[in-house]
Amino acid sequence: RLYNEVQDLKGSIRVYCRVRPFLSGNSSFISSIEHFEEGNITIRAPSKHGKVLKSFSFNKVFGPSATQAEVFSDMEPLIRSVLDGYNVCIFAYGQTGSGKTFTMSGPKDLTEQSQGVNYRSLGDLFYLAEQRKDTFRYDVAVQMIEIYNEQVRDLLNGLNVPEASLVPVSSTSDVIHLMNIGHRNRAVGATALNDRSSRSHSCLTVHVQGRDLTTGNILRGCMHLVDLAGSERVDKSEVTGDRLKEAQHINKSLSALGDVIASLAQKNAHVPYRNSKLTQLLQDSLGGQAKTLMFVHISPEAEAVGESLSTLKFAERVA
Ligand code: ADP
Ligand code: MG
Repeated sequence: RLYNEVQDLKGSIRVYCRVRPFLSGNSSFISSIEHFEEGNITIRAPSKHGKVLKSFSFNKVFGPSATQAEVFSDMEPLIRSVLDGYNVCIFAYGQTGSGKTFTMSGPKDLTEQSQGVNYRSLGDLFYLAEQRKDTFRYDVAVQMIEIYNEQVRDLLNGLNVPEASLVPVSSTSDVIHLMNIGHRNRAVGATALNDRSSRSHSCLTVHVQGRDLTTGNILRGCMHLVDLAGSERVDKSEVTGDRLKEAQHINKSLSALGDVIASLAQKNAHVPYRNSKLTQLLQDSLGGQAKTLMFVHISPEAEAVGESLSTLKFAERVA
């Protein structure tokens, strides 16, 4: 189990920032983003010579021209560590429309090139498992859940259950099939409250069990791929009722996640896992020997500057 790269990553929290391109048909082409090189990003007031508001640095910053392949390019050690028996969490954070689903899944008209982190991670997982087939036998199963208003829903059978169903899979195409079912089930919930997907967290969990063919030892690892609810602050004076309740739940669970990761990063003795459904569910995969990768997303438009600053402040706190 002593792989050097795994030792290097042990218990690590990494933060990657991604700035999406301007979308076609967008009227405002004034950006508040200054530069994004070598892990640095600067936010300016959105005008011609707007003053610098704040600079941040992260493990990596991907600019608008970064491809899906580039974004995934150095994630292989993370996937390998799942097969070595470690737990991994990969999150997508950011305001609605900033590119979370694009990073995790891809665009609506998916092609092989535009496949996101979910597909690529599973592709790598099966590829690496196959490479080890003379020494290990791996069994892989997936779960897909949604957390909406602190309630967990199983996206693979549509029920509200404490234990989501675990479906055995043996190839990336099995998983793609299940993800499509999950996305359809998610959309069913969306008819009652439109665009519910941006107001709930969705989590694809991949459980891996490996048996060492010589010793018979079993190791277990899992990977959680989480597309978080939109992080935008809702103006309390403008929303009421269900919308306000949703906003409060999102706010609470995203700050609980931030608190957990920040206290892990600071190596605090007490980690407040109990403050939200999300952190309770991920407890075994956050902290200890587990590895966390947080993608924070930025919209380049001038009007997003306030949300961009609060997203980057969240990221800075957990980095
Ligand atoms: P979110 O999930 O954060 O609400 P989406 O992933 O749905 O945001 O992105 C909003 C829109 O922007 C979608 O049409 C998506 O295809 C597009 N988009 C996001 N990121 C990129 C990118 N890096 N390159 C091209 N298009 C992108
Ligand atoms: Mg989305």
